Amino acid sequence: MFSLEEIIEKICKHAGYTEEKVNKLIEEKEEELSGLVSKEGAAYIVARELGISLLKETKRQLKIKNLVEGLRSVELVGKVIDVSDIREFERNGQTGSVLNILLGDETGVVRLSLWNDEVSLVKELDIKPDDVVKITRGFVRLDNRGNLELRLGRGRIEKVDEVVNLPESSQIAQKFTAVKRKEIKDLKEGDYAEVRAALVQVFRKNPFYEICPTCGLRLAQDKEKWICKEHGEVKPDYQVVISGVIDDGTGNIRVVFFRNVAEKLAGKSIKEMREEAEKKADSSVLFENFEGLGKEYIITGRVKKNEITENLELIANDIKDINPREECENLIKELESLSE
Ligand SMILES: [Zn+2]
Repeated sequence: MFSLEEIIEKICKHAGYTEEKVNKLIEEKEEELSGLVSKEGAAYIVARELGISLLKETKRQLKIKNLVEGLRSVELVGKVIDVSDIREFERNGQTGSVLNILLGDETGVVRLSLWNDEVSLVKELDIKPDDVVKITRGFVRLDNRGNLELRLGRGRIEKVDEVVNLPESSQIAQKFTAVKRKEIKDLKEGDYAEVRAALVQVFRKNPFYEICPTCGLRLAQDKEKWICKEHGEVKPDYQVVISGVIDDGTGNIRVVFFRNVAEKLAGKSIKEMREEAEKKADSSVLFENFEGLGKEYIITGRVKKNEITENLELIANDIKDINPREECENLIKELESLSE
């Protein structure tokens, strides 16, 4: 429960009223209910009528920056930044559909991916940009590009009608989804940035890891068995992760390429990489004659702090070759903006 002072403060802040006006509204409400409620009770009703949320954040409720792969029972409140179109697909002779909602808060953005039956919730609940939604019992996995993705699974999504203290969706989008070219020395934790740098080292460790073929979560090993927390014992699918170091002359940083991005870097599909490694019974064969070493790339990604080493690392979201024309055009634009 909030104290009377806290409720009054919240109402002032959200409704833009003076304390005097709020006190008057509360007194009027007390009178209207002819002494049936306490002053706190009347204040709650006033807040409620103004659409102000007095729900305390629960301990479970997370901020987006705290999401990590494999997290379950996720509860969070976020603002809808964007709702994608519905995409239909066919897999194993069955049709499915998927729709993505980009959610944000003051700490970051995350994609909520809705599948099949879940897709219709968007229409049912009339979810649109700028709405606030609450996710309960969701889970977090990595998508094909190594980005965190929120899924509902057996959890739920609901619209929050009260005023919740979150930045405007345009502010969140500007802060967390616009890509800026940066020098490695200027990268900070949480940045979503593009760098132009040479790949100077590739770590020769086993790049494959086991995932659940149904939900894509990373599997845990139990003796000879592979276990998904959701689906029990499964025959694993494989995903790939390649890491190394990039340097742009101003500094260097560890870089991690997951899944699609690793395939793009290697110039081979995961299937081809596995076949090659199995044939030679050695996964480090993939790094022999690796052409990318020493080559300069444009790499876009999110800067994270490695939990163990506490060093910054770039989780690559895309990698592409340098396009000289684009580079020149950007340079001209930059010079023009300087002379304005
Ligand atoms: Zn699973």
